[in-house]
Amino acid sequence: MRYFTIFTLFLFIQAAPAQTSLPGQYNKPYVILISCDGFRYDYVERFRPPHLLQFIEEGVRAASMISSFPSKTFPNHYTIATGMYPEHHGLVDNTFYDPERQDLYKISKRDAVEDGSWYKGTPLWVNAEQNGMVSASYFFVGSEADIQGVRPSYFFPYEGSTPNEKRVQQVLDWLALPEPRRPHMITLYFSDMDDAGHRYGPSDDEHIGAALLALDQVLGKLFKGVKATGLPVNIIIVSDHGMADVTPDKLINIDPLEQEEQYRIANNGALAHVYLEQGADREAAYRFLQARETHFRVYKIENFPFYRSCKENPRLGDFILLPEYGSYLSNSRRIAQARQGNFQQGGEHGFNPEFLEMHAIFYANGPAFKKGVSIPSFRNIHIYPIVCRILGLPIPEGIDGRVEVLEGILAE
Ligand code: AMP
Ligand code: ZN
Ligand code: ZN
Repeated sequence: MRYFTIFTLFLFIQAAPAQTSLPGQYNKPYVILISCDGFRYDYVERFRPPHLLQFIEEGVRAASMISSFPSKTFPNHYTIATGMYPEHHGLVDNTFYDPERQDLYKISKRDAVEDGSWYKGTPLWVNAEQNGMVSASYFFVGSEADIQGVRPSYFFPYEGSTPNEKRVQQVLDWLALPEPRRPHMITLYFSDMDDAGHRYGPSDDEHIGAALLALDQVLGKLFKGVKATGLPVNIIIVSDHGMADVTPDKLINIDPLEQEEQYRIANNGALAHVYLEQGADREAAYRFLQARETHFRVYKIENFPFYRSCKENPRLGDFILLPEYGSYLSNSRRIAQARQGNFQQGGEHGFNPEFLEMHAIFYANGPAFKKGVSIPSFRNIHIYPIVCRILGLPIPEGIDGRVEVLEGILAE
């Protein structure tokens, strides 16, 4: 019994994250990385939210930030967190199948979302913890998972109904902790703009504007609270993707494509992954799908133009179904619901990230950044190394982002 207790205590110590920073980290700056899901690049100009405008005018703004393919939430948050393209960090989509594990990952499957073995790369909070720096997360894709056996010292399992004010207050409380336990790398997440964008569509000035001004109030409280700490805090505000108008008449029913004995389909709306079953006839399956092309096209993965590399990643599937821009892959049940007015679909994303409507945001402010600087659009893989540079953390080898791309926005 006694040995058992000592052994479990040993395991606990091994598994527990660093709850105190190494003294060498105390004088480092702080970074709060805020993601506003679905915040399109043009919203600030269109609605001029006062707190955010002031933040931008006194800091750095990019014309836009270009998402990685596909312009979906999970792949892009995890790209921002790791500096790697989705084909490299492993979250290739919101929903995908892993033929080697013979298991499905999707964002509503808590056990998968919290299982670090799905995730590759070294997210910023893992990098911080591994270097003796306390990190904290009020939500961020991957922060609930034991990636490389590490979680942020403080984190919460995702709970979308948590009021934004509570999230902000917690961040301020973290910054008020005594030095050894005070996190230097903090993430924060708001879903409001994505929620409004999906429901009403990005062109609905009234609803998008109202959502943005409400979010701006919350951000204003954070800016004020952070300023009052007197700490060298750098705030980076990003989004994962933009939003395009999609109407129910643009929904494509893919139920007639089902061929259970030949393949399985992971449908993400703006694209679907087709995974052949063992022994399936690849050419026959391809011809079957091709013969049914309507407002979508079927690609063999080796010919698919959008994932940038790593075509051999089995999570991508054997074929990709890609709808025309503005159309969306759906199923009979959802289409029936939409026709009856049972769910409102105004906007969608996931499409080619080069399309302007899919472009995201990047704004930054704090002592590490130049003031009043505008930079051209850049890809979201480049955020990671600049955060490492600010926090004095090592930049892991083999990431896709390069520190030179954003170096020019740093003060001095
Ligand atoms: P989508 O628009 O389908 O790409 O996904 C956006 C949704 O992802 C948001 O509405 C959030 O509710 C959800 N989401 C964001 N972060 C997490 C998380 N860490 N775990 C589970 N769901 C999340
Ligand atoms: Zn999103
Ligand atoms: Zn969304």
